[in-house]
Amino acid sequence: MYQHEPLFLTPEFKDRLWGGTKLRDVFGYTIPTETTGECWGISAHQNGASEVRNGPLAGRKLNEVWESHRELFGDEDGEHFPLLVKILDADQDLSVQVHPDDSYAREVEGEAYGKTECWYIIDCDPGSELIFGHHAQSKESFKELITAGDWDNLLRRIPIEPGEFYFVPSGTIHAIGAGTMILETQQSSDTTYRVYDYDRTDANGNTRELHIERSIDVASIPHEDPPFSPLVAEEDGLKQVQLVSSEYFTVYKWELDGTYSLPEEHPYLLVSVLSGEGVILSGDSSQAVQQGDHLIIPATMKYCQLEGDLEMIVSKSNKA
Ligand code: ZN
Repeated sequence: MYQHEPLFLTPEFKDRLWGGTKLRDVFGYTIPTETTGECWGISAHQNGASEVRNGPLAGRKLNEVWESHRELFGDEDGEHFPLLVKILDADQDLSVQVHPDDSYAREVEGEAYGKTECWYIIDCDPGSELIFGHHAQSKESFKELITAGDWDNLLRRIPIEPGEFYFVPSGTIHAIGAGTMILETQQSSDTTYRVYDYDRTDANGNTRELHIERSIDVASIPHEDPPFSPLVAEEDGLKQVQLVSSEYFTVYKWELDGTYSLPEEHPYLLVSVLSGEGVILSGDSSQAVQQGDHLIIPATMKYCQLEGDLEMIVSKSNKA
């Protein structure tokens, strides 16, 4: 199939204990509840697949498109679409958690992928923090501090600012703090091991399940910060900052002011618009793009010109 247009996707929303209303207040989405925590913008995961909203594939779920039109994705291998892009509104603290790598996810959970993720901080309240890593130097002391509930000595808190970026490989102990909006690019996985949930209860007085044993199995000990070395490139109206290039994905921030044409040969790209407006021209058609849009530029789209004033997070799979 010759797909010469971007695939615009309709997101799925998730109610969360820790969610709020910023996905509506900031991004203008219609959210299902006043505690909506997650917008799954680009997803082919069974727990919330996005639907194509334009062109000949309108109404199809992204997982179906992946199965039946692999040419759009540069004929990449793999039974499952590799990535998942979300916007999170953390009105309250998220649980302290850790995710497995591919082999553990496959063997123990029967999930296709583990979860390496990364975060672009869209906005946060003054004084906001993340939990990123821990202070234990050995598995024994990691276990002891968990058993003792000595969270202050175990968990490493770091202050954050809007516009920062964090790469979170599988095995990293982490938690997003209250008052933070992030765009998350991750492997397409929904496996989370909760280490600590601040002893919170839901409306019915129930605590959420913890997964201490599995967390200890998969946690990286001691914690090491991954290197961060952004690469900046400017071409025509585009400033591109490569935020990370990992085994699974490369993530960029694109700031467009004017026009930019993609080279004819390019991989399929996942695009989420953080702010601004513009158009995407594709030879014989043009489509408006604005804040909150999530789209895929297929590898088959040979002519693709972006025009406008747009701030975007763009990613590509590194599996091809
Ligand atoms: Zn996570």
